[in-house]
Amino acid sequence: MKSQILDSQTAERSQRFKGEVLLNVEIANIERSLDGVKIERSPGEIQEFDKVVFATPPDQVMAPLADPTDAEIKRFSGWKANYATTTIHTDTSMYGNHHIHHPSEFDFFQIDTRWGYNSYLNQLCDISSSQDYFLSFQLEKMIDPVRIIHTQEHHTPLYTTESFRYRDEVLATNGENNTYYAGAYLGDSLHEGAIASAFRVVQLIGSPSALSISGFNGKNTNTLRLAKA
Ligand SMILES: Cc1cc2nc3c(=O)[nH]c(=O)nc-3n(C[C@H](O)[C@H](O)[C@H](O)COP(=O)(O)OP(=O)(O)OC[C@H]3O[C@@H](n4cnc5c(N)ncnc54)[C@H](O)[C@@H]3O)c2cc1C
Repeated sequence: MKSQILDSQTAERSQRFKGEVLLNVEIANIERSLDGVKIERSPGEIQEFDKVVFATPPDQVMAPLADPTDAEIKRFSGWKANYATTTIHTDTSMYGNHHIHHPSEFDFFQIDTRWGYNSYLNQLCDISSSQDYFLSFQLEKMIDPVRIIHTQEHHTPLYTTESFRYRDEVLATNGENNTYYAGAYLGDSLHEGAIASAFRVVQLIGSPSALSISGFNGKNTNTLRLAKA
């Protein structure tokens, strides 16, 4: 099987994979047949594969599919994008304003009609520095702009009743049309759900890696190791 990885955050991890690894590639078209999958990268440049795995947010599935079935259109059309912004900063003023002398790992604050949190990175990530570092979510109004180090936008699935309606059907038909899906949206929407869904795909494809995860019970992902194929 020829293999490629087409996502932007796998540069370091890709060292462990066999085959050619391509990053930050724009996919024009994905065409499936009984024999396999044809992926068109740029106009005219077509490569053939046995299978395709979508590890993207679910709202990204439909666009590159040249030949979506009615069932696929039904299962994925309800998914929309949701954008969340986080901020890395060094501002401690919100603690002083609430007479809190020391941050804890996660501190929640109420602003107007919504809440946000600060996670204390020195404690959470074991950073030994006299400078306090925080990752905050929805606290932009409380943070002095000059104390902001980085702002990150995250593309996540928008979880609604409509988007969830066919989620179990995606799970039940995973692998149909030589097409597989992995992502937190197929589990608990958190890290564990994302990892568990990827393991399920590995098992469905029947990779040798599946042998080393056959004891996976979905509860202790920290102890799992993928075998080198
Ligand atoms: C602010 C925030 C805090 C969180 N905190 C926690 C926490 O404390 N604990 C926890 O368990 N979970 C947490 N989560 C949730 C957790 O991060 C996610 O559930 C998990 O990372 C999702 O993994 P995933 O593989 O499904 O998707 P992602 O990690 O989002 O991976 C999707 C990949 O698809 C790529 N991609 C997108 N579009 C395309 C495209 N068109 N073509 C090719 N590639 C594409 C993206 O670049 C990305 O690499 C948090 C999420 C956010 C946003």
